[in-house]
Amino acid sequence: MASQVAIAIRNVDLYTQSQQQLANISTLQETTSQLNAALTLDGVINTLLAHITSAAKANSSSLFMLSGDSITRAGIYPKRGTDTTLIGESLLLSDYPLTQQVIKSQQPSAISTDDPELQEHARKNFEASGIAANATIPISVPEGVLGVISVNRNYPAENFTQDEVNLMHTLATQAAVAIQNARLYEEQRETAEKLRELDKLKSQFLANMSHELRTPLNSIIGFSRVIMKGIDGPITDLQQQDLSAIYSAGQHLLNMINDILDISKIEAGKMELAFEEIGLTQIFESVLSTARGLVKDKPVKLILSAPEDLPIVHADPTRIRQILLNLLSNAAKFTDEGTITLAAREQLDANDQPEIYISVTDSGVGIAAENQIDLFEPFTQVDGSATRKTGGTGLGLSITRLLVDLHGGKIDVQSSPGGGSTFSFTIPLIMKNKLTVLSAEADIQVSLLYQRYLLGTDYQVVTIVQPGDVVEMVREYRPFAITLDLIFPDCDGWEIFEELKADADTRDIPVIICSVRDEQDKAHKMGAAGYLPKPILSHDLLNMLNRVRDMHQIEMPPGK
Ligand code: ADP
Repeated sequence: MASQVAIAIRNVDLYTQSQQQLANISTLQETTSQLNAALTLDGVINTLLAHITSAAKANSSSLFMLSGDSITRAGIYPKRGTDTTLIGESLLLSDYPLTQQVIKSQQPSAISTDDPELQEHARKNFEASGIAANATIPISVPEGVLGVISVNRNYPAENFTQDEVNLMHTLATQAAVAIQNARLYEEQRETAEKLRELDKLKSQFLANMSHELRTPLNSIIGFSRVIMKGIDGPITDLQQQDLSAIYSAGQHLLNMINDILDISKIEAGKMELAFEEIGLTQIFESVLSTARGLVKDKPVKLILSAPEDLPIVHADPTRIRQILLNLLSNAAKFTDEGTITLAAREQLDANDQPEIYISVTDSGVGIAAENQIDLFEPFTQVDGSATRKTGGTGLGLSITRLLVDLHGGKIDVQSSPGGGSTFSFTIPLIMKNKLTVLSAEADIQVSLLYQRYLLGTDYQVVTIVQPGDVVEMVREYRPFAITLDLIFPDCDGWEIFEELKADADTRDIPVIICSVRDEQDKAHKMGAAGYLPKPILSHDLLNMLNRVRDMHQIEMPPGK
């Protein structure tokens, strides 16, 4: 009997122990996953203190960060009202021998207030706060101790057991990594903030400078033209020649300034594209007439090879014209005789998506393979005598490439020395067999990112830059869903949302709010179909679109 009972008692003991271990493991898991989710230092500290206090059945806890000879209270649990003076004060480590000891040994300590070994000073402190037992746990990383957590049980209470101390120590070690990550994250965020600030200053400076440069330049160009035309009185041939040099140098300088402004705008993500539905044929005709002026003194023939019925494209006409003019003027610069052909056709890309392919082919000097590599990088010029003779900044092709990128297309070059060059680019087309998502973002780069995310899926993104156009665009495209940013330079996304919901035509189209602002609850209350916190990853977007599609039971368009 006795041995049976002994076994039974042991079993109960083992059972209790393993239950305790299970509980510890689940505490650990839960704490770890919450720590990983907390990105800010405050978030990590609050999570850690709350979990440790409850896991150790304690009443309160504080976290002290170590820096040099002092410690700073970085968090307190439970939070005491709005008393911020408790947090942030710097304390001399030497005034706290218990903490000093834990930091030095990197070992946790647990002590009850009536322990005779407790120093008089510490006992007084504890008693004054009604504390019966204290555990001080180091937060260590391989490089050293980041700080300590001081956990208290109020009077009357038992001392902390070794098991409880071990559990707290494990939790603190987990938290150490999270604290380091949060610190790094905060540092990075501050650096990013500073860089953004600098970038803004740079763009501002460039914008101001180019404005300041353009004003006197316009006088130079304008007045030289006035004198050349004889408006101020007759001039000699020699004067005419000199003035013409001044005039064209002025024009050249103006082009360069415009290029520099363009490239800095694009690189700062500030280039605003005005997308609309455009027919390419008129654009081709107008750029060719400009190009005709560039080759009028050379035996160069301009050819247009494009079908009349090219599909309408979703693009910014001014920028498409700029791309074409850049390519055509390069072709004109580097071709002394022969032909320059502007060609366009509809084709399928590598993923079987329809696109427009546009090329400019010349019979000029050509470019050696080794010089083609950096061609689209800013300030790159092929170092040949032809280039030096013709001048330029080396910015034209890099702007061209960035503008093509902004349209979601690709640019390419094919050339050989003496064999002429073909520069080509593509513009993706809106597809009939895909579900269209209209994306309204203050920053076009974000919409283009979504576009890239959804390549090869059932969805395609149409970008909207002007928030004023949203309702109109929705009527035109009848998208299956809309992604809506909240922060626009001149308006709030919610105003657009309400406009969409007020219109019987657009009311039923699901709107997904995409924002850095935490407005999940508001999105829900206002009747948004979904809310995605930024930064948004490709599977976030895809999952959300799939969910919205299922929820609204939207069928794929025919052909799929
Ligand atoms: P730039 O303003 O100096 O022309 P680009 O970026 O437009 O700058 O062109 C960079 C260089 O690429 C040119 O200097 C030239 O050497 C080469 N290049 C561009 N287009 C052609 C072309 N059609 N034929 C031969 N070389 C070209």
